[in-house]
Amino acid sequence: MATATQSDTVGFYFDNSYLQLPTIFYQKQQPSPVKNPKLVLFNESLAIELGLNADVLKNQGAQCLAGNLLFNNSEPIAQAYAGHQFGHFNRLGDGRAILLGEHITPNNQRFDIQLKGAGRTPYSRSGDGRAALAPMLREYIISEAMHALGIATTRSLAVTTTGETVYRDAAYSGAVLTRVAASHIRVGTFQFAAANQNQVQLKALADYTIHRHFPETAVADHPYLDLLKRVIDLQASLIAKWMQVGFIHGVMNTDNMSICGETIDYGPCAFMNGYHPETVFSSIDTNGRYAFGNQPNIAHWNLIRLAESLVPLIHESEEQAISMVTECLHEYPNQFFAYWLACMRKKLGIFNEEEGDIKLVEDLLMHMQKNQADFTNTFRSLSDDAVQNSAFYQDAGFKNWLSLWKARLSRQNETFADSIPLMQSANPKVIPRNHLVEAALSAATDRNDLILFNELLMVVSKPYANIAHDAKYTQVPEPLFDAQYKTFCGT
Ligand code: AMP
Ligand code: MG
Repeated sequence: MATATQSDTVGFYFDNSYLQLPTIFYQKQQPSPVKNPKLVLFNESLAIELGLNADVLKNQGAQCLAGNLLFNNSEPIAQAYAGHQFGHFNRLGDGRAILLGEHITPNNQRFDIQLKGAGRTPYSRSGDGRAALAPMLREYIISEAMHALGIATTRSLAVTTTGETVYRDAAYSGAVLTRVAASHIRVGTFQFAAANQNQVQLKALADYTIHRHFPETAVADHPYLDLLKRVIDLQASLIAKWMQVGFIHGVMNTDNMSICGETIDYGPCAFMNGYHPETVFSSIDTNGRYAFGNQPNIAHWNLIRLAESLVPLIHESEEQAISMVTECLHEYPNQFFAYWLACMRKKLGIFNEEEGDIKLVEDLLMHMQKNQADFTNTFRSLSDDAVQNSAFYQDAGFKNWLSLWKARLSRQNETFADSIPLMQSANPKVIPRNHLVEAALSAATDRNDLILFNELLMVVSKPYANIAHDAKYTQVPEPLFDAQYKTFCGT
């Protein structure tokens, strides 16, 4: 494969430290060229953050971003991993994603640059290695919205159409997404190592992960236990943030849980409108395993799988190792709850702590559930002085709750004026609502029209700002929309 001539000026500095791991963890794999690459989305501000030459990449980068040419010093690989998918263990691996390398930014940060939809790999099984345009646009807008919401996530640098057709339930335009991540090491990567029952390989992965993400852990008394503790803490904090904005990941398989605490793999994800903890949109999640309210428990379940994988490294006595990891895992519910409550206090403009705060939050959620009140708008209305305009305000229970809440606010030193910015920093005004995302994707794929998409992208890129948008961005869809709305894994 040729090396791109322009890559010297693009600004990518690739290192490929993953290649130092035992070869069981990856397969060298070139992207498969596509017919007619066209850059349709480019994240200029992210490119600049990464120290890239945005103009060169935007104007001349399509061939490289579609995988037809390689950037200098890229040594592409597909990564091996395993994972529990809906509770069932499978050996997986990058079936349609190819890691170009790790880009080192001018301020010495390391990011994986991955092409999703770049062709078949040894892990493709029966898949075609490709991706359709709509799901890649979806990942782009939702991941960028999550980033703007202040939630750790992989980022999206570009979407390139391939000029080829991919066949799913029908024929669709093919596309490649350029994904940027702190790394793609997953809970499932550790499960893959553990399943091979080779302690040298498992240790190599754990040491690599510690070196890359948690260097301070290397000098701890029990580095591998410390690694587990760090991942538990990051996940507790991450899931609390999802719960703060009504985000439903939709497919929290262990291969879709990143070790460094980023949200990863935007397949059937969606944002909740009317509050209900059992909300599910994924077409394949028939038992609600990954329902909104189940996410904290599922994260715990996934972390137990990580702990099981690490057991051989934790202590030479298996019994002792199990008791050590069990103690850490027992802490997770408390850690999650503490993060969640801290988020909820912010959402309600509360600065100090009272025991009754838990009941105050639970009561609000109970009234919201009973009235199917919109999660985003209800919280935002508390600080926007718009609460009396909502239909929810007619509910006597909610009105009573409002007076209890106001009484609670009066028991802190800060004034309501102080609470407003706190609340507005935790209650987004806009989220990428499902019906708006779908309308934007339809226009893009049916009519080649990215205007709606780019407008929505701009709006969700400043979710907390007090901007007067077109009313459509804060309107909730007809109730029937949610009842019928289904999301797909986007394969
Ligand atoms: P996901 O549901 O996107 O997390 O994917 C689960 C597994 O299926 C991963 O190992 C993917 O690499 C693989 N996969 C998904 N779509 C395809 C495809 N079109 N071709 C090959 N492998 C795929
Ligand atoms: Mg995945």
